[in-house]
Amino acid sequence: RRTYLVTGAASGIGRATAARLRDGGHTVIGADLKGADISADLATPAGRTGLVQRADELTGGRLDAVIACAGLAHPDPVTLRVNYFGMVASLEGLRPLLAAGTDPRAALVSSAIAIHPSDPAIVDAALAGDEAAAVAAAQAAVDRGEGHTIYGASKQAIARWLRRTAVTEGWANAGIPLNAVAPGTVVTPMTAPLLDDAATREVVDASLPMPLNGHARPEQIAPVLAWLTSADNTHVTGQILFADGGADATLRGETG
Ligand code: NAD
Repeated sequence: RRTYLVTGAASGIGRATAARLRDGGHTVIGADLKGADISADLATPAGRTGLVQRADELTGGRLDAVIACAGLAHPDPVTLRVNYFGMVASLEGLRPLLAAGTDPRAALVSSAIAIHPSDPAIVDAALAGDEAAAVAAAQAAVDRGEGHTIYGASKQAIARWLRRTAVTEGWANAGIPLNAVAPGTVVTPMTAPLLDDAATREVVDASLPMPLNGHARPEQIAPVLAWLTSADNTHVTGQILFADGGADATLRGETG
């Protein structure tokens, strides 16, 4: 029996993952804006600190796994605050609790969209850890009428952060695998409005073609996150596992 913390646990992929783990007999502490064990706004420094403090209180300072799913896709800088800075703060902030756990593991949700070109001003400022500069770059994209690019930039930045961080001090050398799942299109409240409209659905499908089984349900992504954060995973780290119905292989072919 393991103890997991799942962010974004009130909806979609996070909710399905938490449900699967609970069905497997594990203890899951869910975090979300509301409707979970811990209420925390990961767009804000206070919400990020609050998440870690509350998790510490609820677990006695020990966690066996963290799964960072919380995210949003608004054409607004808040998307960068949650998807990059919120995820980094969740994982770094909870790392001491993982260090006290058994067979500790961590995973985050990036996106297959991360392989598309994105705004380097946003990505570079995020990777430099400069939230004010990254948010300013995202606001500049909004001002140019390109706010829709913020989501892809946030997912590319977190994927690059993962590659860099998994093998740094306190992760691999502390025995903590850190991986990402990159889903293609998953049918959740985040994507439902896009998929319900024939025109936007066509744009989504052209951007991420999924020849294997089409759009996923959140319950089909949950087992991938569950395995990466299980004790069975001893040697997979720093990987971005595309659970995307073949989108990456279609778009990048042999060079991916
Ligand atoms: P969802 O909207 O169903 O769930 C996301 C959850 O994150 C919600 O419960 C929401 O309240 C929470 N959240 C948003 N802002 C937050 C904040 N400031 N603080 C705390 N929690 C917050 O969406 P989903 O599709 O399940 O998305 C889960 C993750 O998967 C996201 O990171 C998303 O970017 C990623 N993803 C989704 C898809 C897809 O097609 N649905 C594809 C690739 C990646």
